[in-house]
Amino acid sequence: MKINCLSCGHNVDVSEAYDDYTGVIKCFACQALLEIKTENGYLRSVQLANSPSAAPLDLSGPTDSSERPEEAGVSSSRT
Ligand SMILES: [Zn+2]
Repeated sequence: MKINCLSCGHNVDVSEAYDDYTGVIKCFACQALLEIKTENGYLRSVQLANSPSAAPLDLSGPTDSSERPEEAGVSSSRT
């Protein structure tokens, strides 16, 4: 069975041991962790297990001060 990596698009070839499998596999090409669910040899669902979008705010990242944070508050308080 081939599973399309959501991260790099590589077709990860997994053995028939994964025909009925729910868990995480690793893409051989980009090392991304894919959370998959298979049933009777068919892929039911696949998603990135370590999705970077799960943590949008990281304090260690650079903060862009060019956008004014109060702008959202002004627009939301507008009646
Ligand atoms: Zn990949």
